[in-house]
Amino acid sequence: MAKPTGFMEYQRENPPDRAPQERIKDWNEFHLPVLDEKLQTQGARCMDCGIPFCHTGALISGMAAGCPVNNLIPEWNDLVYRGHWRLALERLHKTNNFPEFTGRVCPAPCEGSCTAGRMGDPVSIKSIECAIVDKGFEEGWIVPEPPPFRSGKKVAVVGSGPAGLAAAAQLNRAGHLVTVYERANRIGGLLTYGIPNMKLDKKIVQRRVDLLAAEGVTFVTGVEIGKDKPAEELRDDFDAVVLCGGATQPRDLPIEGRKLKGIHFAMEFLQGNTRHLLNGRTPKVGWEERSGYGELISAEGKDVIVIGGGDTGTDCVGTSLRHGCSSLVQLEILSQPPDSRAADNPWPEWPKVYKLDYGQEEYKALYGADPRQYTVTAKRFVG
Ligand SMILES: Cc1cc2nc3c(=O)[nH]c(=O)nc-3n(C[C@H](O)[C@H](O)[C@H](O)COP(=O)(O)OP(=O)(O)OC[C@H]3O[C@@H](n4cnc5c(N)ncnc54)[C@H](O)[C@@H]3O)c2cc1C
Ligand code: SF4
Repeated sequence: MAKPTGFMEYQRENPPDRAPQERIKDWNEFHLPVLDEKLQTQGARCMDCGIPFCHTGALISGMAAGCPVNNLIPEWNDLVYRGHWRLALERLHKTNNFPEFTGRVCPAPCEGSCTAGRMGDPVSIKSIECAIVDKGFEEGWIVPEPPPFRSGKKVAVVGSGPAGLAAAAQLNRAGHLVTVYERANRIGGLLTYGIPNMKLDKKIVQRRVDLLAAEGVTFVTGVEIGKDKPAEELRDDFDAVVLCGGATQPRDLPIEGRKLKGIHFAMEFLQGNTRHLLNGRTPKVGWEERSGYGELISAEGKDVIVIGGGDTGTDCVGTSLRHGCSSLVQLEILSQPPDSRAADNPWPEWPKVYKLDYGQEEYKALYGADPRQYTVTAKRFVG
């Protein structure tokens, strides 16, 4: 256990963020690093619960309660509290291939089910996770670790999002020769072309891809399996094929006026933006050209309506503000959640409570209010 009385002595401290007025001027990550000593104090708040709900990852009422990859959270909280960062990193990597991604973008169901959150604020698990792995890279502890032997088996992985990358990492570690096929021009799936830079810098993604390549994983971009390369070829050339193609299919809103100009799927907007930031005006070939995704859709000087109050909607808010939109409103079909848990949403369930995510926080800092309007159903587009 970290410090037996830590949860009574110390208050939770959230990681500092860059000021919204400043950060909307660029595409850099908005979280700031936290001092080691502060994180050690935060680690001291962990009670090393007999039943650590933080790492159960059980589905309760259809939602993940606790860490879905079963991170050994109390163990590394304790190690961080004691200053054993390298051991903490080893424990973290036991269950999580890419803590530098989850430490930045995971919604942290671990914190939602942390026992400390029953009576007060949960342990700052996500910040501690991120700091452990960031320190690991800074200190040079994370280096390529090619497998000591090769099995002689070849595996193809289709898709290079987090699922494909994790499958590749595990299979390579087991000694198989892995080739990852990706239809886009860059590796990473939605880590690269979905989640915007301010939440996850693309250098962080590339750093891990480079590490996997140095461990022996082969990456092939610009090849859509089933179009540019027949699936049968994979079955002939490999001992096994793992399909990690993600979802891609957007959810349409088939109401009157949907075909009017200026109505876009979130991914057209977000992906076009990230492509533009990363690639500039690189000509699109293969899947890029076929899909029609990838053009920059600028919100500069536009009146923007974001339909959907979830995380992707938030990314559209943050992106529109950075483009310099002239006005913005975000519509949410559900009613505004309560400030604290409702009776039918008890701990350790995922807490369905009102919060300002980064995009709404930025809007509020500029215009004084949350851009979301609740209980609004879009019935038709007029234009
Ligand atoms: C805008 C947005 C923001 C998000 N933000 C967060 C967040 O903050 N936190 C969080 O936890 N989750 C977030 N998510 C969800 C998260 O990104 C996804 O759950 C995750 O990326 C799914 O991983 P995946 O590997 O299954 O699929 P994907 O990331 O979609 O990767 C699939 C890959 O397969 C490739 N592919 C598909 N078919 C083929 C083929 N035939 N041949 C070759 N390649 C193919 C695709 O091009 C793609 O690169 C967000 C999602 C979106 C859309
Ligand atoms: S539930 Fe919270 S307090 Fe208990 S072990 Fe997990 S992080 Fe520590």
